[in-house]
Amino acid sequence: MSVATIRGALFDLDGVVVAQCLDFMAIKHEIFGSTEGFILERIQGLSGQERARAEAILARHETEAAIRCQPLDGVVPLLRRLDHHGLRLGLVTRNSRKSVDLIQARLALPFSAIVTREDAPPKPAPDPILLACRRLGVAAHEVLFVGDFEFDMLAGRRAGVRTVLLRNPVQPFSHNADHLIASLNEIPPLLGLSDRMGSA
Ligand SMILES: [Mg+2]
Repeated sequence: MSVATIRGALFDLDGVVVAQCLDFMAIKHEIFGSTEGFILERIQGLSGQERARAEAILARHETEAAIRCQPLDGVVPLLRRLDHHGLRLGLVTRNSRKSVDLIQARLALPFSAIVTREDAPPKPAPDPILLACRRLGVAAHEVLFVGDFEFDMLAGRRAGVRTVLLRNPVQPFSHNADHLIASLNEIPPLLGLSDRMGSA
């Protein structure tokens, strides 16, 4: 793989671009009184006032997290470097548009496409990945998608992009990952770029 074949790079937000600030267990406990399952999928099963209450709780947690979250080490120079090399950059997240706007107001990361849960069915559906590819004007097979969770790898595999798992204690491996990395510093060599970070 090299920059000659990869024209776009998509990133998950939480745990990849910014340090994970959302406490999923606390959110689930506050909304449902229990911690099993996944938040968006459980909210889908609610209606009326229950659903409105759940969405308000989630929005409050997301806003608080967006205000205090910090970029992961090395992500800002990495994105600048990929941008400099002409890669089209996008963000694909299950978070809300409002929370991403808050983060972008502070960090102003060089993403040309941002897909949130308002735009498409959320990962692990392939839809948000394919939408980001369309918005960037690149074909799925020309795209690398970096995530830290199985939903990212599944969505990417289903969309036909090349999947990269940023390994972590919760998700150290995935059968749906084309590449496993321990650090974002491994992305430039994966793309065939020279190994000096931030040199571009
Ligand atoms: Mg994540």
